[in-house]
Amino acid sequence: MDDHEQTVLDDLRAHGYKVTQARRAVIRALTGSVRPLSVNELHAQAQRMNPAIGLVTIYRTVELLTHLDLIRPVHLMDNCHGYAVASPGHTHHLVCKKCHRAVEFDGCDLGLFLEQVARETGYRITGHWLELEGICARCQAADGSAPQP
Ligand SMILES: [Zn+2]
Ligand SMILES: [Zn+2]
Repeated sequence: MDDHEQTVLDDLRAHGYKVTQARRAVIRALTGSVRPLSVNELHAQAQRMNPAIGLVTIYRTVELLTHLDLIRPVHLMDNCHGYAVASPGHTHHLVCKKCHRAVEFDGCDLGLFLEQVARETGYRITGHWLELEGICARCQAADGSAPQP
């Protein structure tokens, strides 16, 4: 078990939840993956730990972990989405369009923009969801086009 997996499991316990086999399997798969994984992929990996874990259980697990902000949905090709581990605090994901490798970056500079939207719409804005896509340095190198300085 790596440190990252342990940290997320500790967070789960700190929220008062038990570490079930399905929860451990999902967290292990996501902390061990450099790209977001779909529910089906998570299910396949969980079944390697215990073939009795059903797809519905994985859906519920993903829902719970998302609700607790331990993982985040990340948009993938063809209107499907995957999940990636989320660090505590204000972070967003940047996903490579080619290999789907995802990295997190800290915060964003949306403060003034959100204030303006709130003023214009009368809404009290309570959250936002931002995701960037691009081509990672590795895929750029594989293309033969050097990364931009
Ligand atoms: Zn890439
Ligand atoms: Zn943000």
